Amino acid sequence: MTTRYIFVVGGVMSGVGKGIAASSTGKILQNYGYKVTAVKIDPYVNVDAGTMNPTEHGEVFVTEDGLETDQDLGNYERFLNQNMFRLNYMTTGSVYESVIHKERNLEYKGKCVEVVPHIPEEVISRIEAAGKKTKSDFVMVEIGGTVGEYQNLLFLEAGRLMKLKYPGKVIFLMVSYLPIPDKIGEMKTKPTQYAVRTLNSSGIQPDFIIARASCPVDEPRKKKLAISCNVKESNIISAPDIESIYEVPINFEKQNLGERILEEFGLKKKGSKEFKKRTAKHREQEREWEKFVTDLKKLEKLSEKSNKKVVEIGIIGKYFSTGKFVLSDSYISVIEAVKHAAWHLGYHPQISWLSAEEYEHNNKKLEELKKFGGIIVPGGFGSRGVEGKIKVIEYARKNNIPYYGLCYGMQLAVIEFARNVAGLKDADTTEINPKTGNPVIDTMDEQKRFIAEKRFGGSMRLGAYSCDLVNGTLAQKAYGQKRIFERHRHRYEFNNKFKDLLEKKLDKGGLVISGVNKERGLVEIIELKNHPFFVGVQFHPEFSSRPLHPQPLFREFIRAAVKPRERR
Ligand code: GLN
Repeated sequence: MTTRYIFVVGGVMSGVGKGIAASSTGKILQNYGYKVTAVKIDPYVNVDAGTMNPTEHGEVFVTEDGLETDQDLGNYERFLNQNMFRLNYMTTGSVYESVIHKERNLEYKGKCVEVVPHIPEEVISRIEAAGKKTKSDFVMVEIGGTVGEYQNLLFLEAGRLMKLKYPGKVIFLMVSYLPIPDKIGEMKTKPTQYAVRTLNSSGIQPDFIIARASCPVDEPRKKKLAISCNVKESNIISAPDIESIYEVPINFEKQNLGERILEEFGLKKKGSKEFKKRTAKHREQEREWEKFVTDLKKLEKLSEKSNKKVVEIGIIGKYFSTGKFVLSDSYISVIEAVKHAAWHLGYHPQISWLSAEEYEHNNKKLEELKKFGGIIVPGGFGSRGVEGKIKVIEYARKNNIPYYGLCYGMQLAVIEFARNVAGLKDADTTEINPKTGNPVIDTMDEQKRFIAEKRFGGSMRLGAYSCDLVNGTLAQKAYGQKRIFERHRHRYEFNNKFKDLLEKKLDKGGLVISGVNKERGLVEIIELKNHPFFVGVQFHPEFSSRPLHPQPLFREFIRAAVKPRERR
């Protein structure tokens, strides 16, 4: 089958869930037996998402092949249950970078290189490559930002040109928002009408409208949208706020989105054998997902009545607040990984955000940590809040509270151990204190060069690396295998010069190095004996967790966290 393309654009405002809509639509088509991939286009000039502060842009999601991307790629991976790669992501910066590179290499053969058509052409060739290399039947193409912004015009232009290039093989889906102003009390379609007009002015007519709102869109408004936006009424999909993002594909399918899309592409031949086969497969896969969603909703309901099946997890970080608002976007994969593991074990997770700085000079506050089943210190950079995190880690170690350190959380656990158990009072990471006498966390030589040359973008240790697990350790038992691959994103590492010294404290119930990368001799996992669960991983295990396949260490962390305190 030739590849077909589904562009997903946003109307009215950002943050209405284009990523979830794109992932859910992709998932539905996948259930019909099609091979699906997804491409996210970010309108930033940044070449990748790695140089942006998480409070600015949300989580930086890292692909197996080491690109720092947008959090939507995490959604694609979780919904489609397949890995995304470099070819699944582009930004304005990365597109311009390759066009300029080609121009310098005379690849345009003396032509004048112009914004139009050369930039959209580059975009198109990347979208095509994503479809071709993954041999996909469908490519979901999500254009970041909102229609009407100056920034994404060239990407819309690429979409328009693709529709010309592949007649009948390209459709547009607009995810728009319908507000219900308090004082008026009625759902308003006008902003969406304007958004569609604006899209029209780019030469694009949407084939579907995903109508996001706080409640379902009723018939009169569907009619209004259909007439004024020139979209078939059956192609207006109501997408009210729901409890779980994982319910979105189910909600879409209740409105036959899958069949409607196949119809638009002329792929649905009613009564044909092929279609029946696909529908059967669809039902089977859909049922598995439905059961998962029903179960998690049951747990949620149950948690409202009793906290018997609730597991309380504290995440201690610093990328939460923007002005008056608290955002958890920076840690989205961590949150999802906690949820997947908790649901898998039949628990409803209740996550609290703990601001690291508050623990720096407030020992009383530490006592409050006792209420948590488990504590996570996720990835982070720089010195703000670090001493608070170290205090929390010390408290978790001494008070048998399950602790799971992710990347920075592992490095800080090593520092805490070196300071408070091994007696290296000034133990530190050179990220914070380059002059420390005991740099238990330090950079590798290649990183020293990058830092000296100020080459920060895309130069961390990125992507999947192998890690060999030591027999009999908690990590090895969790994974149930000897060699694993997990994704990395960091500049600093466990300093092997301190390995012997820290390991020697083993008889004190000390540091166990349970995973190493053999090629480079790097410590990847540390853990403690005589503790219900104390594990630090140099990688980001949260990126590999999937709804129906929780990440093994998250699973074991939650298993420890749900044990009653006295039985730990
Ligand atoms: N700041 C640390 C480093 O660069 C940890 C990074 C992280 O947690 N992702 O090594």
